[in-house]
Amino acid sequence: MRRPGIRKPDLPGDGVQAETPTRAAGLARLASFVPQAAAYARERNRVVPPHDRVSRLAPYLRHRLILEREAVAAVWDVQPRDTVDKFVSEVLWRTYWKGWLEQRPHVWDAYLDQLRRDRDGLAGTASIRYAEAIAGRSGIPCFDAWANELTETGYLHNHARMWFASIWIFTLRLPWTLGAAFFLRHLLDGDPASNTLSWRWVAGLHTRGKHYLARAENIARYTDGRFDPKGELDEQALPLTEPPLDLTPRALPASVELDVDIPSGLLLTPEDLAPEVSRLSLLRFRGVAGGWDETVGECLDLALPVVDFSRVAIADALSRAEAHFAVPSYVLDEGDWLAAAEAWSLSLAVRKVVMLETPVGQWRKRIEQLDARLARHGIALVRARRTWDSRLWPGATRGFFPFREHANRQTHLESLTRIERPQP
Ligand SMILES: Cc1cc2nc3c(=O)[nH]c(=O)nc-3n(C[C@H](O)[C@H](O)[C@H](O)COP(=O)(O)OP(=O)(O)OC[C@H]3O[C@@H](n4cnc5c(N)ncnc54)[C@H](O)[C@@H]3O)c2cc1C
Repeated sequence: MRRPGIRKPDLPGDGVQAETPTRAAGLARLASFVPQAAAYARERNRVVPPHDRVSRLAPYLRHRLILEREAVAAVWDVQPRDTVDKFVSEVLWRTYWKGWLEQRPHVWDAYLDQLRRDRDGLAGTASIRYAEAIAGRSGIPCFDAWANELTETGYLHNHARMWFASIWIFTLRLPWTLGAAFFLRHLLDGDPASNTLSWRWVAGLHTRGKHYLARAENIARYTDGRFDPKGELDEQALPLTEPPLDLTPRALPASVELDVDIPSGLLLTPEDLAPEVSRLSLLRFRGVAGGWDETVGECLDLALPVVDFSRVAIADALSRAEAHFAVPSYVLDEGDWLAAAEAWSLSLAVRKVVMLETPVGQWRKRIEQLDARLARHGIALVRARRTWDSRLWPGATRGFFPFREHANRQTHLESLTRIERPQP
């Protein structure tokens, strides 16, 4: 077995891509957004590049280069609360979708199964419509512009995502699963929970029977007349239906206690890349490791810029963790991530490997496999859930508005923004 050595991660140079995948860049983006956060409620629905009326924080929040609580605290610290409530709500939508899927993990598996079936079943004119749609050649100018914007920049404004998904499903009559996969492939913020559940919501599968229909008049208004798809859209389509899927929430496993005295290793995944601002920040480790797993990228068919974003973000997190915990960092082999993670754990001679929770998605599956492998060596893989998630996720049992109430009243959102702050 190859023994891991210590390798320094590479950090990006200027201009590698539009978004710099580092925590510093995320915090800078947040700081530059805060002064305009009060105008967000009024301006956020307008879809006019370069989209400077919205925060564009999603790629940073998605990989937890910065945290939801940091985004909320930053706007609350500076702006009157009532003026930034809309922004706070939007950030909480991310937490809501995560919590909703955590309590119904089989919805992600059902999505992947259906995606495979829909891919295999694509034939004839539908397969031509699909090829044209993803190439930005559907013949509907607004849709084609958004398809190109997505593949070129890795970003789409929320309103454009809603219109795009709706046109994909109800006008082009393509399987929603393939549209969601197209988003996951190209979005720098591509996320199993927000993406899958938003597509289900547009289709009318999340809130059964309630779908989102893109309307030409609405598109013309919010694009400042840049597009006017009058007569091009099906504005009468009915919601999709599907065979019964059990949507009853399941109780979340209890959050683990962390034992500060047992020597352990720290493992990072692109699901949470800010260990120094977490429950783990005061623990002592023998080493920290992380790395991209090629098989995750391949099975989701991720585009190169998406993979590169994760790779560089991991490298950034490793160098921060190395400095914060004063331990050597190690980059795990992409080709056989599982074997590399196992070898690194053994090389540390520890009884425990600790990590921040990987929510439902492909990384969760990889971590479950690693758990089984480490158990054979008597090493425990400990997944620590953030307090934000432990308190808020259980509230995602029904719709967003009860969840928002839960966040406000029962878990004291205020106090959640003050915990796990960086140590001096
Ligand atoms: C069909 C569809 C697919 C989507 N896929 C994803 C996805 O894969 N990953 C993803 O992060 N978001 C997804 N969203 C949600 C939302 O569109 C993006 O989070 C948002 O547009 C990101 O841009 P921003 O950072 O400028 O957002 P802002 O408008 O500035 O909002 C601030 C933050 O709040 C959160 N947020 C805002 N709106 C939503 C929302 N509707 N749902 C969840 N979180 C939200 C994001 O973290 C965002 O960064 C999807 C929405 C739709 C309709």
